[in-house]
Amino acid sequence: MAQERYQPPASFTTPLAATLAEDLLERFLRYVRIDTQARRNRSGSPSSPGQLELGHLVVEELRAAGLLDAALDANGYVTATLATTTTAQSPVIGLIAHLDTSPDAPGAGVEPIVHRAYRGGIIELPLGGTRLDPATMPELTGKEGHDIVTASGDTLLGADDKVGVAAITTAVAHMAAHPELPRPTLRVAFTPDEEIGEGATLFDIEAFGALCAYTIDGSEVGELQDETFTAAQAILTIEGVDVHPGQAMGRLVSALRLAARIVAALPSDRLAPETTSGREGFIHPFELTGTPARATISTIVRDFDDDELERHLALLQRTAQDVIATEPRATLEFHVSRQYPNMRSFIEPVPYVTEAAEAAIRAEGIEPVRTAIRGGTDGSKLSERGLPTPNLFTGGHEYHSVREWASLQDMAAAAATIVRLAEVWTRPEFAAWAAPSGAADQSGATGASAVAGAAGASAVAGAAGATDAKPGTRLV
Ligand SMILES: [Zn+2]
Repeated sequence: MAQERYQPPASFTTPLAATLAEDLLERFLRYVRIDTQARRNRSGSPSSPGQLELGHLVVEELRAAGLLDAALDANGYVTATLATTTTAQSPVIGLIAHLDTSPDAPGAGVEPIVHRAYRGGIIELPLGGTRLDPATMPELTGKEGHDIVTASGDTLLGADDKVGVAAITTAVAHMAAHPELPRPTLRVAFTPDEEIGEGATLFDIEAFGALCAYTIDGSEVGELQDETFTAAQAILTIEGVDVHPGQAMGRLVSALRLAARIVAALPSDRLAPETTSGREGFIHPFELTGTPARATISTIVRDFDDDELERHLALLQRTAQDVIATEPRATLEFHVSRQYPNMRSFIEPVPYVTEAAEAAIRAEGIEPVRTAIRGGTDGSKLSERGLPTPNLFTGGHEYHSVREWASLQDMAAAAATIVRLAEVWTRPEFAAWAAPSGAADQSGATGASAVAGAAGASAVAGAAGATDAKPGTRLV
């Protein structure tokens, strides 16, 4: 074999990140080997037993680190508290990641591989002919020298979101061992079934008792996301008239053919996931089932703008009605359910929540990149329910696929950013938001004062569950 070019290892963002890296990697490699794949159409929480197994493991690790109240509840939620090291008043801050992995690719039997000091070019994985090619995966460009973690080619890696879990356990273990580092009271939560949209469902915001929280569930280093899609699902049910095909002349009305015509009549050069990017929304038919008697089209509809979302829904309904109108014997039912809201409207009134994250990312030597998520997070629903929860980067990429990968240098930057974030929240200008009254008025939002007051009360009380405010109504 030809002599390979020497690639000097990439440096870490800071000495803190370098300090955290190996502990972080060990935890991450341990977590990804547990199959925590979520199952659709769950009958209970969590949807799969592996999530409880990982929950038990991280509870043990959190207790070993000194977070003695760490616990796993019957629904698969892990919670724990790391008490403040400051005597000054500071708010309670939440850190959230999810235990489950996506059902979109195989999730069992993950065999992680660490490719030390990536030399650039294509990474060939041993199984499934899977290749990581910078030509089609531009995020790999610029990661020369990084330690790249992948699976073996036939499964997910599970960086989504086990980097988040590992970054939080690593950061809080480091802070617990270093009481000289300033920190507010930190509340940790690991949720089940985020990938099937249920992570926030049984989340007890009141018991969590935090002023605000951060999910560690993003991607490229430096990303800070305080905006998600607003999401709706529309189910179209078409009833036709079924007749034996031998005697069907002039009598059969095929619901299946009508459904196919509706799908074909939807715009595809625009308003489709494959032809939109950035801030554009879409209508996405994702399942079509049918017989001549009855057919169902399942769609998801997305936009960052609520009015635009309504227009997309109206277009979908009108398109279906126009097709059905050509056959008076057919009927159409159009059922819309709301899935999650754009978190921005709930985070905007409390700008210091994202400002603290920006300050933390900068303290780690990284320029923050504000982006909008073309999807949702646990934070979408949590923010709506009164716990403002933007999303921070993890260093993972190509989520929900067998090509999933993560950079150890970037993962370590995520863990270090958590430690920085804790310090930021003890700075007077941020801690002031936790004051029981008055201090939060400069935001001009009465909701901000109410949140700060409630969290201040629980910070004084220390542990969880002490707030007497109604978190669900705080910001609404
Ligand atoms: Zn995720």
